[in-house]
Amino acid sequence: MLHVGDAVNLALDCLFPQQCVGCGRIGRFICCDCSAHLPFLHPPLCPHCGQPQMSGILCANCAGRTSSVVFIRSAFRFEGTVRQAVHELKYRKVRAIGPLLASYMEPVLREVDYAPDLIVPVPMHPRRKRRRGYNQADILARSVGRLVSIEVRTDAVQRSRDGVSQLQSGTGARRWSNVQGAFACTNRLVSGKRVLLVDDVCTTGATIEACATALRSGGAAEVAAMTVAREV
Ligand SMILES: [Zn+2]
Ligand SMILES: [Zn+2]
Repeated sequence: MLHVGDAVNLALDCLFPQQCVGCGRIGRFICCDCSAHLPFLHPPLCPHCGQPQMSGILCANCAGRTSSVVFIRSAFRFEGTVRQAVHELKYRKVRAIGPLLASYMEPVLREVDYAPDLIVPVPMHPRRKRRRGYNQADILARSVGRLVSIEVRTDAVQRSRDGVSQLQSGTGARRWSNVQGAFACTNRLVSGKRVLLVDDVCTTGATIEACATALRSGGAAEVAAMTVAREV
């Protein structure tokens, strides 16, 4: 039997047929050929930041630094078809691609065997969210939450300062100072909880670190993070 949601999706598919973000073929967001060549991130990885690391021990960046986040993991390298898919989700309002990307995050979460109490998307500044109409991290977090049956809270942490966009801002020290103190966690709902932060892309890890610091100040017992992709 066809459910209402299925019927709506079917109607939407007819109105807006899915097109492969990799090659343009009509049918699915990522066609079979392109899905066979996705840039998966495979171990060995730095156990903390998830960068590919031949030795599988802490990378030079993580070794000398204390952190508010226990680990960061990503499904993909931020390149090729995945870069295009994130771009569609983020800038071209193709929200329906979110659940597909989240479906690749779920096995990574199972692989690290992490069971958080709460899933929290990295928030967008309210002004930016109004302009875009949605936060892509909310879509990803809700989709992952549905797949692993864990509660998602989009109100756990607030973005009090609007930084430049992740994909456009510079790298290194400038970005770290850009996002430091950009988040605030004022309600107590994270108190004592193990939180999984979800975002689309991890570039330097600065945004995740700043957000995790706010959550820990708000009482979170532990914060881990997952993104669709990361720069390597
Ligand atoms: Zn394709
Ligand atoms: Zn590292």
